[in-house]
Amino acid sequence: MLKGIAAAPGISIGKAFLLDSQEFVIQKKEVSEAELSNEIARFESALIKTRQEIVEIQKKIAEEMGADHAEIFNAHLLVLEDRMLIEEVIVHLKKEKLSVEYIFMNVLKKYMNVFSKIDDEYLKERIVDIGDVGKRVLKNLLGKQFESIEAQEEPVIIVAYNLSPSDTVTLHKKNVMGFITDVGGRTSHTAIIARALEMPAIVGLEDATKKIKNEDLLIVDGSEGVVFINPEKQTLKKYTEQKKKIDEFHKQLLKLRNLPSETLDGRRIELSANIEFPEEIPSLLHYGCDGIGLYRTEYFYLNRTDVPGEEEQFKAYKYAAQKMKPHSVVIRTLDVGGDKLVSQLGIPKEMNPFLGWRAIRFCLARPEIFKVQLRAILRASNYGKLKMMYPMISGIEELKEANSLLKDVRLELKKKKIGFDENMEVGAMIEIPSAAMTCDVLAREVNFFSIGTNDLIQYSLAVDRSNEKIAYLYEPAHPAVLRLIKNIIDVAHGNGIWVGMCGEMAGEPHFALLLLGMGLDEFSVSPMSVPIIKNVIRSVRLDQMQELAKEALKLPSGKQIEEFTKRHLKETTPSIVKTA
Ligand code: PEP
Ligand code: MG
Repeated sequence: MLKGIAAAPGISIGKAFLLDSQEFVIQKKEVSEAELSNEIARFESALIKTRQEIVEIQKKIAEEMGADHAEIFNAHLLVLEDRMLIEEVIVHLKKEKLSVEYIFMNVLKKYMNVFSKIDDEYLKERIVDIGDVGKRVLKNLLGKQFESIEAQEEPVIIVAYNLSPSDTVTLHKKNVMGFITDVGGRTSHTAIIARALEMPAIVGLEDATKKIKNEDLLIVDGSEGVVFINPEKQTLKKYTEQKKKIDEFHKQLLKLRNLPSETLDGRRIELSANIEFPEEIPSLLHYGCDGIGLYRTEYFYLNRTDVPGEEEQFKAYKYAAQKMKPHSVVIRTLDVGGDKLVSQLGIPKEMNPFLGWRAIRFCLARPEIFKVQLRAILRASNYGKLKMMYPMISGIEELKEANSLLKDVRLELKKKKIGFDENMEVGAMIEIPSAAMTCDVLAREVNFFSIGTNDLIQYSLAVDRSNEKIAYLYEPAHPAVLRLIKNIIDVAHGNGIWVGMCGEMAGEPHFALLLLGMGLDEFSVSPMSVPIIKNVIRSVRLDQMQELAKEALKLPSGKQIEEFTKRHLKETTPSIVKTA
């Protein structure tokens, strides 16, 4: 059994699939003059076969996740069609008279070496594409069946050292039933995507890739953060039953979908969902939420080589606005940087990416990119109830500058007589301690706040949200964090604006009790948490939660507060404890 950090709840039982486990050892083998034409023919058919494989995967991803996500594979196809590379292989083959796989591998290595020395982040990232394609060609040359995830008959559990948010996006639902990684934290974007895709996941296992072999039978308990490798019959039976129980519990919760999220003493709470892709919208309606409280638009920019234009963004936002009507949709403007690198935007690798050139800082420095998005959002606001908010606001100047760009775009649209919602609400995410401490000043410039605890916690406690080594210090209930949250809520209300929370903390049932008591107006959680949090809200009295919050805020440590809230959750909603 291995223990890691629970990243996405639920239980998966299936075979392990180790990513990047297939390395080749290619022996140097001489070939005769007579064999050369056969070597060239083998090379050509391997290229054709690889092309077919990639086009096939691209088609599948386009069908399931939309054409934009499939575009990443265009870069793979370009590598395959590179005349220079192909000719270089043939020239060396004729000169050195060694097997074509050996020659190809060396040419490939040379290419990757050259790319790694170029001082251009975009080109550097193409090394991964060259490596991926190269591996496929080699597999086909060696006559081995490529062990791709897509080719697996049964859904698998991915075991990897790390997965980037964009890797996770491409693990499409059908063939992957969960994943586990050696590194990562609970609020890393990789974990957030796992919850969006409803795949049980565990991160921060440290050495899972060393202890697990391909095809091992795994039980992944994403709620507890434990993995069993080739479990005993008894364990397997226990978890199969537990899985059934959880599925049944979730089915029961769905009965709440048409009921309001309201406390026992009648306080109506806005319960919204966080999404990353427009494809998630149909399932939101199924879960019965009050709208979208966070639409992470940066996923438009990932896994592609170009920058999405106004029309494409407009269509997506319009789709969200229309589908969710009469509910509201909060679109967050581009939040790139940190762990979400978008190579085509030219953001360089930084020493401290989470403290670097990201989100609103990037957008204000590149107004030509930012304004395209603002135009798309404003135009879409004509088709439903859209709101928008800026990420990573650190102080008043940034907020004013962003609002001033928004004003310019509004004027341009008016001049061109293009319609938009003149009353669209504009908010600021409060996810940096400096914003939390000066939110009285910020409140005058916006219609609402949304607290981003994923970042607020990492900045307040100086704990990298994606580092498993210090995950024990990442405490949402640390008194420092709670005092900041309390301040934000009180100041917002004092200034007559509403305040929500879209960080993952809002989706944790025991913390939800606390946040209710602190006066939070809106909870925005991952879609699968909507029924769970609705159940919590409907099981408690607001006045009692206010008392609970008062008591909790007197406690001296995060651990004590967490235990205190968990005890109360057990009393108010006992059924939820084991399944959330
Ligand atoms: C947050 O920081 O809490 C948040 C919701 O934004 P993200 O997780 O995308 O950084
Ligand atoms: Mg954030």
